[in-house]
Amino acid sequence: MDNDPSNAAPGALEAVRRFVDTDDIYNGRDALTDVASATEWLVAEGMLDKDRPMTAHDLSALRNMRDALRALAAANTLGGQPPREAVDTFNDLTARHTASVRLEVGRGATAVSLEPREDGPGGVVARLAAAVHEAVLTGTWTRLKSCDNPECRWLFYDESRSRTARWCSMRACGSIVKARRYRDKQRRGTANTS
Ligand SMILES: [Zn+2]
Repeated sequence: MDNDPSNAAPGALEAVRRFVDTDDIYNGRDALTDVASATEWLVAEGMLDKDRPMTAHDLSALRNMRDALRALAAANTLGGQPPREAVDTFNDLTARHTASVRLEVGRGATAVSLEPREDGPGGVVARLAAAVHEAVLTGTWTRLKSCDNPECRWLFYDESRSRTARWCSMRACGSIVKARRYRDKQRRGTANTS
């Protein structure tokens, strides 16, 4: 259920979505709570070599990156500007972990990608940043959104033609939020007339 394919983003952007959704607010589960669980998750995802040790400081940086990415995706949901601190956090973290341009030339095809220059936890930051870079250039970035239910905030890829989806598709968050707003409105209405 947590990785409903209908939520999946295309290409490298899917790694960003899965990374942010390690913090499953709706179910109160977090795969990056400590160094051991974070290492296990990143190794299983193929984002980290299991022989590369991670420190508490690395974990803290990854968690900051995760929060910044969620805030950026939430701005995509509402179509507004992301908070300045999220942008600054993203830029500060990525400035420390570089990626380089890699050219692949095949028969009649040329591909170019950004590859992390390190393979430890810093490489994870660089890989995520490279995926955002590619997504912005290819126009898929603005479709990566954070569910507008404050108790969910799940990252999902908006495949709707109108690009106006606000809620993740799998938890009926839209109807939960709408029902709550309706109840609040009713309650306020009752309060006003009594
Ligand atoms: Zn949701």
